[in-house]
Amino acid sequence: MKILVINCGSSSLKYQLIDSDTEKVLAKGLCERIGIDGMFTYQKAGCDKQVSQIDQPDHKKSVQLVIDALTDKENGVVADLSEIGAVGHRVVHGGEKFASSVLITEEVIKAIEECNDLAPLHNPANIIGINACRELMPGVPMVAVFDTAFHQTMPAEAFLYGIPYDYYKKYGVRKYGFHGTSHSYVSKRVIDILGLEAEKSKIVVCHLGNGASICAVDGGKSVETSMGLTPLMGLIMGTRSGEIDPGAMEFIANKEGLNLSEVMTILNKRSGVLGLSGVSSDFRDIESAIEDGNEQAKAAMDAFVHRVVSYVGGYIAVMGGVDAIVFTAGIGENDKGVRKAVIEKFGYLGVKLDEEANNSREDEVIISTPDSKVKVLKVATNEELMIARDTLALAK
Ligand code: AMP
Repeated sequence: MKILVINCGSSSLKYQLIDSDTEKVLAKGLCERIGIDGMFTYQKAGCDKQVSQIDQPDHKKSVQLVIDALTDKENGVVADLSEIGAVGHRVVHGGEKFASSVLITEEVIKAIEECNDLAPLHNPANIIGINACRELMPGVPMVAVFDTAFHQTMPAEAFLYGIPYDYYKKYGVRKYGFHGTSHSYVSKRVIDILGLEAEKSKIVVCHLGNGASICAVDGGKSVETSMGLTPLMGLIMGTRSGEIDPGAMEFIANKEGLNLSEVMTILNKRSGVLGLSGVSSDFRDIESAIEDGNEQAKAAMDAFVHRVVSYVGGYIAVMGGVDAIVFTAGIGENDKGVRKAVIEKFGYLGVKLDEEANNSREDEVIISTPDSKVKVLKVATNEELMIARDTLALAK
């Protein structure tokens, strides 16, 4: 079956068409600046990217462009729409309603809408994408795959905040966690690569990208993760602060004459390594600034690594041990310096990095030495493939 995977944001839509038999990407691309003007990118497997300016007043137009490109006589990859057997949609927040992926129905859309409060920037956009596809591809089964679902196995002791219990009961204020599709995919790959017994395996997944989170996966299940009610919590990220004393918010607001929503914008958009370094949110820029002797960039990098180390160490304690530590996403897959700086801190556990393996550019590599007490890996994440697999399972 050919499965269209859609990841819809408020002004963007990423897509991939995946052949579920071979698990190969047939074509992929991106619609950007939806509702502003519109850029459309299409790339057929093995061919160059085509980028064109095409007006996209709304997401329906973008989905139509995707369908037109995929079915195009010259450059398309399917003869007509009937070849697309199902659509998988990434949905950011499923609250406590969704512990796994689901076939989309009217009731499911309503339940996703009920989670809008928890992800006001993301869920409404996800629903717009779902509705646009339902209109243009009537009768095609659609599946929602949630970023939060994998973490629904967390025990209450891990997800409860130390605030009045009523706020959890009335409003669902608790830790949910994100990047679940990535944590799930990567931990499963590690179990396969190392031949671990899934039920007994203990894995710490470090998803280090522009958004970053860590997950403790015990027996194949998420038992603790670093993002919270929202994706602002936990690690120091590209532009997001991560963990911060809540008291600092009122303090900053008073000092700078800001209201709460202005402080939130600063914590989301002007903080993280960008805010700390004053250079960039991109680790490549941070590293070249460090090479040029920029002390503030060095401090930002050190703080990032320190935070990763403290979460990894905490999660090893939570699980009472660890078989493997794995790095994924933009920084985790590409930045050997970050991997080295983190892993060196776990020498006390008998973890040993294989420097040569750590330099490898392969997608899946064991980067610890054969005698290391804990295996360390880097594994390229593939959220789209995970979405396609869930979609296939439910659409069948
Ligand atoms: P993601 O959100 O997973 O796409 O990750 C994007 C981030 O990965 C970028 O903002 C960079 O900070 C980081 N990144 C990508 N490529 C490299 C690289 N070669 N070296 C260091 N960091 C990288």
